[in-house]
Amino acid sequence: MGRIIGIDLGTTNSCVSLIEGNDPVVIANSEGDRTTPSMVAFTSKGERHVGKHAKRQAAVNPERTIYGVKRLIGHRFKDDAVTEYCKNLPFHVIENTNGDAWVDIDGQGMSPQEISAMIVGKLKESAETYCGDKVDQCVVAVPAYFNDAQRQATRDACRLAGLKVLRIMNEPTLAALAFGYKSNVEGKTSNIVVFDLGGGTFDVSVLECRCGTFRVLATAGNNHLGGNDFDDAIFEYLVKQFKEENNIDITSDKMAVQRVREAAETLKCELSTMSESSVNLPFLAIGETGPVHMMQSVERSELETLVKPLVDKLEAPCHDALEQAGLDKNSIDDVLLVGGMTRMPCVQATVERIFGKKPSHNINPDEAVALGAAVQAGVLDGEVSEVVLLDVTPLNLGIKTKGDRVSTIIERNSSIPTKASKVFATTQDDQTYVDITIVQGDSEIASQCTRLGEVKLTGIPPMPAGHARVLVEFSIDASGVVGVCVVDKQTGTRETKNIENAMGLSNDEIVAANSRLR
Ligand code: AMP
Repeated sequence: MGRIIGIDLGTTNSCVSLIEGNDPVVIANSEGDRTTPSMVAFTSKGERHVGKHAKRQAAVNPERTIYGVKRLIGHRFKDDAVTEYCKNLPFHVIENTNGDAWVDIDGQGMSPQEISAMIVGKLKESAETYCGDKVDQCVVAVPAYFNDAQRQATRDACRLAGLKVLRIMNEPTLAALAFGYKSNVEGKTSNIVVFDLGGGTFDVSVLECRCGTFRVLATAGNNHLGGNDFDDAIFEYLVKQFKEENNIDITSDKMAVQRVREAAETLKCELSTMSESSVNLPFLAIGETGPVHMMQSVERSELETLVKPLVDKLEAPCHDALEQAGLDKNSIDDVLLVGGMTRMPCVQATVERIFGKKPSHNINPDEAVALGAAVQAGVLDGEVSEVVLLDVTPLNLGIKTKGDRVSTIIERNSSIPTKASKVFATTQDDQTYVDITIVQGDSEIASQCTRLGEVKLTGIPPMPAGHARVLVEFSIDASGVVGVCVVDKQTGTRETKNIENAMGLSNDEIVAANSRLR
């Protein structure tokens, strides 16, 4: 059996690590970097680049340089979040035959799972080079707020890369594990908040750590709030200023768009340490009198005004998580910052204001999740024994009922693994089957939640409405993955469904992806 690696498959950057002796270590990639940009590029010559090399050529090959697929994975093309994300993308996102969001490269549709598999493949290769041995199993991290479909799709991505996924774990939980792994074994009980703002997602979790047991009390967040949104706000500002000054709209020039987008991100990062910085993009467009350059200096305070609506969105999930955990801010001992975006001073100030204490800088925000995943890998293969992780499910899980409502069976923030059931009655006379639609989400309106799949139970004996009773039982395993069983209470007929098959790639799609990945 090969080694088990811990993978942080980030929206912007990814990282891999494993347990060496008793300590988790980050593995550098073939370029010597400890994190790898989550980018894949396809060149006109048919070559494929992953990571830094893909990022380097993005400005000259914008339509074939794919990034941020974590914001598409496990999503329907028509989801509002996808429409919103695709607004400014230089590459094409299309609807595949199942209605899922895929990317299009020169007319060839590719699933976000396949693109992610290329990134995971590079991490796997780095680990194999480091170990001098085969690596075929992993623990993979996902945002705490990922639903079942997104978890399944992430698992498919690792499978396509040749890795068996032993556990899917929540990113903030793993960060807390990396932070407390050594220090908490003998220690007192402490309450930790993990504030995780990455390139595409925002999660906040509250954990109780006691003698090596890490129990998640509550988690909340926003799957569609991250650094990319900040970059978009800066991008729009720069484009607008340029238009006002030069009367040129660059948004139809894909290469110019990509250059400004990169400059926006760089500016954002520079303004984390400097109070003023500038964008200098020579020859960005051609005007009536010749080439026009973008030269714009921006102060940190201007940036902070620009992104204030986004920063404000961070507040509600923090209060929600504290409330769900049954704690107030005075009982929090440590606040950990995870994700590159937490380097922004206004984000740190917001965290400090909300929780009433300075966040801890003891962990590396880019590496903590992967390190935690390696510790969990160590737990699973027996190398680490003194740690127990108890996580929760982030979203309500239930079925669609009359009037587009949701009847919740497993409440959000229930500890996992868990199982729960409810009995439902038929609504029509002589009803011989029931169609159950499984939904997961925050809303009480079924159509606003994610539809995970359907189960049909047939063979119900004809009876007056309300007499036949059907038991719906849901289970959620330690990876947050959902199973469902529907039983006719009279006859004992049952239908068990692994939701895995309902949303994932078809066999044909897996074969096609495998042949391309080879
Ligand atoms: P992650 O998903 O954790 O890799 O976070 C990536 C996000 O963090 C991207 O949006 C980056 O632009 C952002 N980021 C990285 N470094 C900084 C920095 N110094 N200041 C502001 N944002 C940063």
